[in-house]
Amino acid sequence: MTKRTINDIDLRGKRVLARVDYNVPMARQDGAMVINDDTRIRATLPTLRTMTESGAKVVLAAHLGRPKGERVQSMSLRPVAERLSELIDQPVAFCEQCVGQTAAKATTKLEDSGLLLLENLRYHAEEEANDPGFATELAGDAEVYVNDAFGAAHRAHASTAGVADVLNDRGGQSVAGLLMERELQFLGDELESPKRPFVVILGGAKVSDKIKVIDRLLEKANTILIGGAMAYTFKLAKGLTVGKSLVERDKVDVALAALDKAAKRGVQFLIPTDNVVAMPTEIDGKFAFGDHRVNDDENIPDEVEGVDIGPKSVAAFSEAIAGARTILWNGPMGIFEDERFAGGTFAVAKAVCEVTTNGAKSIIGGGDSVKALNKAGLGDQVTFMSTGGGASLEFLEGKELPGVAALADK
Ligand code: AMP
Repeated sequence: MTKRTINDIDLRGKRVLARVDYNVPMARQDGAMVINDDTRIRATLPTLRTMTESGAKVVLAAHLGRPKGERVQSMSLRPVAERLSELIDQPVAFCEQCVGQTAAKATTKLEDSGLLLLENLRYHAEEEANDPGFATELAGDAEVYVNDAFGAAHRAHASTAGVADVLNDRGGQSVAGLLMERELQFLGDELESPKRPFVVILGGAKVSDKIKVIDRLLEKANTILIGGAMAYTFKLAKGLTVGKSLVERDKVDVALAALDKAAKRGVQFLIPTDNVVAMPTEIDGKFAFGDHRVNDDENIPDEVEGVDIGPKSVAAFSEAIAGARTILWNGPMGIFEDERFAGGTFAVAKAVCEVTTNGAKSIIGGGDSVKALNKAGLGDQVTFMSTGGGASLEFLEGKELPGVAALADK
């Protein structure tokens, strides 16, 4: 499943269309849109530098927000072109269209090692519809298609799947960028034959979102640690009480099947033995949590809601993590957005970083765990953090992502 990358082909003087993930958070400031976090732009720099240093003419295609096929000025990628130009220290041309004559002209003007960013792909409904005509226009006269947008690879859109088909049909090449390569290496190859013990930590809101991941990882992991609200559905499955906690009662059978599979395969499967609980209340018509405390029991009392894992669970989870040689973590242990309930998530983050320092490989499967690590200032202390949310989950489920399938194998 190893994919060919930009390092495997000759890019000299080639016309390249590269799909990148520039879906960056922006806010309006003094009437203009300003980028709040340029992590995603920085993440593409190694790929872009490799291409420009090889003398390729690089056209960049990306989406921003959900303009739903309309031209929404606040979702223009123009500020991204400006920021990219500063970061890469070379001019980045911007074209107000992503297809049509204006785009074709701008592309033709590109010189060797030049960079051009096209306007938001999602100004056209044809992008998400994977319209073949739109994909052909977008492909223009490109000889090479590069996909470096792992976060968009689980969608079969014109820029992730259609364009690759166009290039492949006319004898061009479709390859992975360096960021995409790292995603596939860590979420794919590294987890295929992990160094053991392999400890998987899963949290977040719902069992239903992650059950396929749990099921697949039950075939690979030595230990699975479950936190977050999804742990309460497992508590129900074990006949424990969950009070007012967020649960999915219709998924108890699914949780039971996972527990059963774990027992049969000898996978250690831990759920919290204590929790931080809080009283859900309404203050001035607004929902709030009051009276939080540690509930030192597996059962959660009727009147309260579980909002984080407790200190005993932190100790047990940390001990399992400390013995790991490979770790995969996806999903927070509690409602970490509220600092009163962030302790469990931050303690797990700390344990993961400590074992990484001792030589273990830690792979963070995107989404809220990445946010939590960055919030704790520990983002640079793990082996790899995925840039994909939905894409990383689907990949971990073992699904073939359309944007990856379209790329040439090594
Ligand atoms: P996910 O996107 O599935 O990883 O879920 C992340 C969300 O799960 C975060 O917004 C957390 O606030 C939420 N979450 C984690 N633990 C709990 C909990 N005990 N009760 C309610 N929500 C939770």
